[in-house]
Amino acid sequence: MAVAFIGLGANLGDRRRSIGAGVAALESTPGITVLRVSTLRETEPVGVVDQPRFLNGVVSIETRLPPRELLARLLEIEAALGRSRDTETRYGPRVIDLDILLYDDVVLDEPGLTIPHPRLHERPFALEPLAELDPDAVVPGHGRVRDILAE
Ligand code: AMP
Repeated sequence: MAVAFIGLGANLGDRRRSIGAGVAALESTPGITVLRVSTLRETEPVGVVDQPRFLNGVVSIETRLPPRELLARLLEIEAALGRSRDTETRYGPRVIDLDILLYDDVVLDEPGLTIPHPRLHERPFALEPLAELDPDAVVPGHGRVRDILAE
């Protein structure tokens, strides 16, 4: 079993409901047990700034799905909850976004999957809820979450 941290974000429609549905979908996935859910926080959009504010949170999970299978499941949940990649621009508005932030102490850089999430260490909206769940979690290559936030 591995412990992973999943980042959730939404900035279209009923954001709280979409994130709740995302967590419920994770919980109902065979091979995934949701351990803890952070509080949700409102954050300013990054990149494309002319769009609604995001609601962001992080969940910790225990899983027997290897990283690729976990990613495939996250993409499936995003699709089921109404994300259309055709009509979205990168960093643009989205009904729900699910990212693998950390997966044990795995370091992986493959086409389509980078762990830890390549922008995790520079994103307070992901680091803060992550610190709420486990301030001592280590982002490989960058150190403990609490220390990254303190810098
Ligand atoms: P976005 O929706 O903009 O977050 O981009 C999603 C795409 O990023 C997915 O199709 C993945 O192939 C890719 N990706 C790479 N690394 C990760 C990761 N750690 N978690 C989620 N998606 C990732």
